[in-house]
Amino acid sequence: MLSSNHVFYGFSKDLKPVLTVEPGEIITIETLDAFNNQINDATQKLDELDWNKVNPATGPIYVKTAEPGDFLKVTIEGIELNSTGVMASIPHAGVFGNIHKKSTIKMFNLEDEFTEFNDLVLPISPMIGVIGVAPENGMVPNGEPGGHGGNMDNRLITLGTELYLPVFHPGALFGLGDLHASMGDGEVNVTGIEVSGKVTLTFEVLKKIKHHNHPIFKKDGSFYCLYSADTLDEAVEGVSNEMLYWITEALQYDLSDSAMLLSLMADLEICQVVDPKKTVRMKMPNIYFRNLNL
Ligand code: CA
Repeated sequence: MLSSNHVFYGFSKDLKPVLTVEPGEIITIETLDAFNNQINDATQKLDELDWNKVNPATGPIYVKTAEPGDFLKVTIEGIELNSTGVMASIPHAGVFGNIHKKSTIKMFNLEDEFTEFNDLVLPISPMIGVIGVAPENGMVPNGEPGGHGGNMDNRLITLGTELYLPVFHPGALFGLGDLHASMGDGEVNVTGIEVSGKVTLTFEVLKKIKHHNHPIFKKDGSFYCLYSADTLDEAVEGVSNEMLYWITEALQYDLSDSAMLLSLMADLEICQVVDPKKTVRMKMPNIYFRNLNL
């Protein structure tokens, strides 16, 4: 198991790998929560936290044979949450940032399949918030999403998901963290139920993918493109063009027919709108992509 003693705060090609693995190896990675496990009591003050140490990701992991131009396929084989979760309302953060006059913290017991929220009972749906590889250029803080993955806060990155991340540097330099016990599409109040835990996964390297600057994933019979940008409008345009590429590649239609099919069958969905870039996903039935060999 890769211990959460090995964390970093920004994806970069300049980080030294803490583990080298072969494709196909089963790996378990321990993760800290998005607050770096600094909160264990609802009476704590958020301004007393060390904000230079938030959104830790465990890694980076060097995956043998991964080279620039490949896809790193990550299959999520298991997510195990620890028993205490935390969320917060934070002034000036998220959709309600102007409404919150002070910070508040709420703690959650996650020992069962459900958790209590005041007088309500909510289901637990584990997911991975931060997952990615070294970006093409420079360093991207773990709090931000991008073409390399990062803080996409996509609630569909969960058990059984097959995520394809573009490889920009030898070994890919993979890392993950920021598990959530629950989060709605959008993550409008900036946090989900943040929790530490363990993720078990396997890697596969798909060689020489000619179009590979943004992640895609497969989940429950659907094929998804992911795109992060400064505005939702840019993200929507970006993800639509990504899907247009992949459906054209898969079906060999002309652009007009591909675009028509997307208008009929593609669903546009929001991952998050607060990180502070926005991440969207577009969903299509996976059956249309069977010629892709992905
Ligand atoms: Ca997050």
